[in-house]
Formats: sequence, C-alpha cells, structure tokens
Amino acid sequence: MQNKYMDEIRKLKQERDAIILAHNYQVPEVQDIADVVGDSYALSKHAANTDNKVIVFCGVHFMAESAKILSPDKTVLLPAKDAGCPMAEMVTAEGLREMKAKYPEAAVVCYVNSSAEVKAESDICCTSSNAIKVVRSVKQKQVLFVPDENLGSYVAEKVPEKEILLWKGFCITHKRVRPQEVMKIRELHPAAKILVHPECQPEVQKLADFLGSTSEIIKYAGSIPEKDIIIGTEEGVMHILKKQNPEKNFYLLSTGLICPNMKKTRVEDVYQSLLHMQHQIDVQEETRLKALRSLEEMLKIS
Ligand code: SF4
Repeated sequence: MQNKYMDEIRKLKQERDAIILAHNYQVPEVQDIADVVGDSYALSKHAANTDNKVIVFCGVHFMAESAKILSPDKTVLLPAKDAGCPMAEMVTAEGLREMKAKYPEAAVVCYVNSSAEVKAESDICCTSSNAIKVVRSVKQKQVLFVPDENLGSYVAEKVPEKEILLWKGFCITHKRVRPQEVMKIRELHPAAKILVHPECQPEVQKLADFLGSTSEIIKYAGSIPEKDIIIGTEEGVMHILKKQNPEKNFYLLSTGLICPNMKKTRVEDVYQSLLHMQHQIDVQEETRLKALRSLEEMLKIS
C-alpha cells in the first residue's frame, strides 16, 4: 500500500515541481519520502533557497507558514491541516503588543515556533540552534524572549550580559520530562551520555551531559565515542540517529517525548496533498513583509 503512494508521490512531485521537506519529529515513513529532513532552522533555509514551485511541508503549521513568508511565490502545502503547535498558540500578537508597551526599550526575540503575526511584531526570530547567537546580536540590553520560557532561561544563563524577560510559554512535549526520569535512566545506564533539548525544564537541563537543538543533538551523538546515548527530545529523531549510527544504542529519556501534532502527517496525507494541492498556506501580505524582516534578520546571523 505504502509503495503505491510512494510511486504516486514521486510522479506527482515531478508533475508539480515539488519538494518535500520533513521535520525530524515526523514519523519515519514520512522522513523517508522527504527530499530534505531537518530541524526548523535547516528547513527554513531550504524553504528560502529552493527553486521548486511547490513546497510540501511535513511539520506543523508555523513551519509551513515560515516557508510561505520566505517564499511567497511558491505554493506551500501542509499535508495535515490541523497540525498546530500548542507552544506557538501561547503567544498572540495582541499579548505581545501589550508586553512591548510595558518594555519599550526591549528588543523582541521570537522563537520560530510562533505565528506570522507574532513574528511580525518581533525584531528578530531565532531557533533553538541559534538562539544564543541571536540574543547576543541585538543591540539592546533588555530582551523580551517569546514564547518558550525554558529555551529563554537557557539563553539567559549563557548570555548573562543581557536582561532577558521571559514569556510563560512552553512545549507540552518537552515539558513533560521530569528530573526523576533523568535520575532513573542514569541509574539504568550509568555509562550513557544524556543529550537534552533546551525546551525541557531547567531542572532537567541541569542533569544532562549535553544541551542542544535537534540538529546539535544529532551531530553530537554521532561525534562522541559512547555507545549508549539517552535522547531527551522528540522521539522522531531516533530514526535518523539509528540510521546514521547503527553501532550505537539509543534510549528515549521519557515515554512522554512524543509530539501528537508532529505525528499527524502520514504518507497518504502527503500523497493527497500533492494530488489535490491541499492545504495551501497563505499569509496576509502586510503581516508577511513584517514577519519576513524578522526571519531575514535571523538568517543573516548564521
Ligand atoms: S514538539 Fe513542542 S514545540 Fe515542537 S511542534 Fe510539538 S508542541 Fe510544538
């Protein structure tokens, strides 16, 4: 059944002049049919530079929206229409405007996990790969960091020269990891290295051996001599980790590390998306131009 879709997808991709981008948190079958698999940062760079007319974005809504902001002349499709990000919904443009009025001197750094409207209200975007660099790059001492409180506090620790004002948003998936789970798994695998995403709580971050974005975790896991590695980010990354490092043993830090929205896209959805050219992402032009400035500021940095 799946092969049937794969052949059809190949044909449709050619007919439509489409590229399939998939986030590392997608199910393995979707990662395997994608042209590019990566984290938010890598995928936004591809979206900005691709020559294809159609971008099929296997991820969540804000990612496809970022692709549309960066490539307005392309048709951007989100195969799973209702794949959203709860963290992105924790900050609204209106709420952010109120905060900006309270702290008029502050630079607004906005994690890409946010809506186009919120990006439009910000000075610069960041991803978990470049958040430290981005915060260091702004001229202002005071920085309003939205929406992820955990990533923001990680950055605050690394960039003590800035005064970071944190928004109270969080990733429902990464926040689920508890420090007790880290201690327990450490006991079970004492020789293993524990690699954790900064969207996890600070108490969990402190117990880890390495903190980094999804792509940094993948790179680090491949570079260290340890054979046993515990992964503290969404379980979709296990697919590429096992593929790239067949000699190593990977363990997921917590059974809660599954993002329900990232798991909504199936191979059949990708096929339907290409067949019917659904679900197209649109961003209102005025908002797009403002959001584009924030994304481009980020892309200039790294
Ligand atoms: S893993 Fe967290 S931040 Fe990423 S899409 Fe899911 S809920 Fe949003």
